[in-house]
Amino acid sequence: MKTFIRKISKTVEQKNLNQNIIDKIDNMPLITENIPYEYKYDENEIKLVPSIDLCNDFVERFEKFIQSNCNTILIADYDNTFTKRFNGDEENFNSFTVIEQISKKFSESQKKNHKKYYIYEHIMVEEEAREKLKEWYGKTFINFVETKIKKEDFKNLVKKAMIEKQKVWFRNGTMKLFDNLLEKKIPLILISCGIKDVLEEELKIFLGEEKYNKLINEKLLFIIGNEVLYDNEDGSSIGFKIPYIYTCNKTDFLKKIFDKLRNGKKVRVLMFGDNYYDIDLIESINDDIEQLLGVALDNKGKVNFIPKYQACILGDGDFRFLNFILSMINN
Ligand SMILES: [Mg+2]
Repeated sequence: MKTFIRKISKTVEQKNLNQNIIDKIDNMPLITENIPYEYKYDENEIKLVPSIDLCNDFVERFEKFIQSNCNTILIADYDNTFTKRFNGDEENFNSFTVIEQISKKFSESQKKNHKKYYIYEHIMVEEEAREKLKEWYGKTFINFVETKIKKEDFKNLVKKAMIEKQKVWFRNGTMKLFDNLLEKKIPLILISCGIKDVLEEELKIFLGEEKYNKLINEKLLFIIGNEVLYDNEDGSSIGFKIPYIYTCNKTDFLKKIFDKLRNGKKVRVLMFGDNYYDIDLIESINDDIEQLLGVALDNKGKVNFIPKYQACILGDGDFRFLNFILSMINN
């Protein structure tokens, strides 16, 4: 690992970047897991090979990012980004599988659809994949409404999933990340195709109501997710607010909050997500970003996120790298 860090420093030196930056790069936590790799494909597996060219790009982008005088906004996905995808060999719940606890029928149809459509979440045949993902989410919402779940059910379902079954795990460093936001007054926009009620309940349990409310009240946490509509009489779910959010249209929902936060000025954005398409959510706000750093969370080591993203946290890893970046910037 040390040889590799020296190698990066050397290429940084050659580009006459200042010593301060070289020191910072040298001290990055988990550097071998966070710098860009080239992905080499052979018959059965994908190998990750460090790429000096990509490192150079990353170092340049990183330097500009931390030296920028703009205010910072964090934009992130939620499922499998804030939460870990795996616990050992077992897959954790996401904000849809939490609901599966209430209905066997919903669970079975979800599993069937997952098998059919999951491949499109990380596929590069863009147009076909986008259509298939839209179809998948549409089916999920129809099945969801059939559960007739009520708003008050979410609290118990989430509690059961998180506390009793221990099936929702936030990545190590998540609490520190929220503490950093509070301390530095950096806002986070969480944008998810999941169900907003589930996200809110999970975050309330994880952070504690006091810290959660503080983040909301101080306008440091904004949650955008699919909103369930309930029947006025019996309180059961009858549908979703249209248009629903799915993997490929997140950008449409972001601009309003983003514009309010940036207040007419350009900003620097730290964006992170576990899906190949997540970074497309900056499409609608691209012109208002001065510096962008996109960090992918690679949960399974099967996707080539680079160069769509500038860095990649491998192995369903933790938030040390993101906290490291936050420790170097001020708002
Ligand atoms: Mg995700």
